[in-house]
Amino acid sequence: MAELTKLYPMVQFKKDTWEIDEFDAASIFLLVGTEKAMVIDCGMGIGDLRGAIEMITDKPLVVVISHGHIDHTANARQFEEIWISPKDADKPIPQNIERRRWDTIRIANRQKGCFEGVYKMFKLYPYDINVDIREPGPDEPMPIIHDLEDGMQFDLGGGRIVTAYACPGHSEGEFIFLDEKTRTLFAGDALNYNLGVGAVPLETTLRYMKRMQDLSEKYDGIYNGHHDFRALGAPLDDDCLPTVIAMMEDALAGHIVPCQVPSPWGQDLQLTSEPVNVMAQAPGMMPGTKETRPQRVMLRRGRNFLGINPENLYEKKD
Ligand SMILES: [Zn+2]
Repeated sequence: MAELTKLYPMVQFKKDTWEIDEFDAASIFLLVGTEKAMVIDCGMGIGDLRGAIEMITDKPLVVVISHGHIDHTANARQFEEIWISPKDADKPIPQNIERRRWDTIRIANRQKGCFEGVYKMFKLYPYDINVDIREPGPDEPMPIIHDLEDGMQFDLGGGRIVTAYACPGHSEGEFIFLDEKTRTLFAGDALNYNLGVGAVPLETTLRYMKRMQDLSEKYDGIYNGHHDFRALGAPLDDDCLPTVIAMMEDALAGHIVPCQVPSPWGQDLQLTSEPVNVMAQAPGMMPGTKETRPQRVMLRRGRNFLGINPENLYEKKD
């Protein structure tokens, strides 16, 4: 294996609790107990994540995945075993390499506040996109996949017990993780200021968002699975969750006023709930992309954006 970068920005924001920044693409969290260490998420697959983690700890690693999206699973094959919801375990690990490279370039451009030019002029990220984003090597077979179930607990030793809670919406198998010892909640993509849901009825997602709020006696800060909408090592602001809950309640009461927002991905998000052919709308989209966006409208309240599927609001009653 070529020498891969380990130069991730990282910060220990609470005792034995690290946020590893995969160069703005995704965040990986590392929780070190006296017996084991937990890795939450595996990023877009840039560089030698395991090597970087092993610079911090030599404890046996328990790897949990918040959900099955491309930017949370890709370096999972550097580890022997992972835990993921069976509802999200059907996707290949890692997913399409061209897509990963394309997304990574877009993210780097977005973070620099400019498309294309600056990314090419300065090498501000210490990785080589053609080396550090790669297909897994022969020494990286598929990990053993364990089913993550609601309420499952992981004992890292020294009284550090992490509980996994289902939180479907952004994906069907989305999970969040509560570390009561440091009073920290790790939310994956279940909560942020530009939240996309719709994998299950909105009514269902709202119930789980309220459970996240009910758990708030046990945590002081929520960390989403990217360090966007917050600084590295700092939690989301406290208004995020109550605003999302209020927006969902409003939508379920029938108040759906879509807004159009520009997107750094090259296309404006649509006002209608019609399925949109991404290629037709987005000249900046990755060449060869044929995917159709799921039905979605964007709602806004203050600085919160919430993308919902207006065709999938209510649970089916029988
Ligand atoms: Zn996601």
